[in-house]
Amino acid sequence: MREYVGHLHLHSTYSDGTATIEEIAAEARSAGLSFIGINDHHHLDGLYHGKEGWIEGVAALVGCEINDLENHYLAYNIDREVKGDAARPQAVIDAVRAQGGLGFIAHPFEKGSPLWDRGRTFGWTDWQAHGFTGIEIWNFSSLFRANARNVPLALLRYYFLRAARLDPLRETLDVWDLLSRARKVVAIGGSDNHGFRMRTLGGLIPVRLFDYRTALRSVHTHVLLHDDLPVSFKAAKAAIIEALAEGRCFVALHLFDDPRGFRFEAETRRGRFVMGDEVLLGDTPVLRVQSPTRGMIRFIRDGRTISVNHGRSAELAARQAGSYRVEVRRSRMLGGTRAWIFSNAIRVSDDARDMSQAFPEQTSSRRQAAKT
Ligand SMILES: [Zn+2]
Ligand SMILES: [Zn+2]
Repeated sequence: MREYVGHLHLHSTYSDGTATIEEIAAEARSAGLSFIGINDHHHLDGLYHGKEGWIEGVAALVGCEINDLENHYLAYNIDREVKGDAARPQAVIDAVRAQGGLGFIAHPFEKGSPLWDRGRTFGWTDWQAHGFTGIEIWNFSSLFRANARNVPLALLRYYFLRAARLDPLRETLDVWDLLSRARKVVAIGGSDNHGFRMRTLGGLIPVRLFDYRTALRSVHTHVLLHDDLPVSFKAAKAAIIEALAEGRCFVALHLFDDPRGFRFEAETRRGRFVMGDEVLLGDTPVLRVQSPTRGMIRFIRDGRTISVNHGRSAELAARQAGSYRVEVRRSRMLGGTRAWIFSNAIRVSDDARDMSQAFPEQTSSRRQAAKT
């Protein structure tokens, strides 16, 4: 498997961002990224103006973010604009899906900040909704806003990010785990960066919340591909979209440690499987984790932590069916630990019949994975 690092959920000058797609791609290149996902609000002008493709050696995927007041939805791989309908998010999900697009619930829970639009938040309200690809579990801007309870705290955490609390919200992880018990729900992460410019302390201190440079070194989504990223943009896009659709990816914070090289796999008597795959309990799966550097490695089944290990690797024999995922945490300079890496899940099923009923559309990925 080849690993490629990308950054999803960016806003450009096509909506309320402050950098062009070209400028964002140049910054992504200097951050060593392979792809970026642009999600300007409501429309696809970037796509219509030919800004999807290789830019500065980075694959720029142009999707959009639909809805305004609440129920924000990130869409990729669509070529026709989808009308917002914040009151009926199911209509939006269905319209994206009808085009063969991928859709992710954006920042489902937010804390907001009294300094920002009077604490306004843009959460997700309809948990009966179905048919979405996944959830954005880690949104850097949203979490930073939650850190900015007052001006001194905001400034401290802005200039000293290590002091900020950047872990994904518990509510978001809980809802992801709950939904994952019934079906595959792919986790992604990003910054939701706009590069807002503002001045604080009576206009004395210029602040760009956040600059793209910082954002493009924050929360990334890593995809695992079967082969090298193709030279043809069309094929490269298809490979990235396929990995995101299948959940063959993980989400990680790059600010303080380099998470490249993380792996979560299942070894069974039928071969090796990766994140996003389903395996059979009867095939005696052993789950293996490799971390690029020492950390606290947690195995989580159906939302419950079942094993905690410290080191660069860990192993667990799966003895029950369920949705298994892994978190790696790193020590924090100021004490305690901070979230670093979130895997997508490997599902362990009781038998083949259950699996094909629960995941009829995903049996091909299982076949494909078995070949790796
Ligand atoms: Zn949003
Ligand atoms: Zn956004």
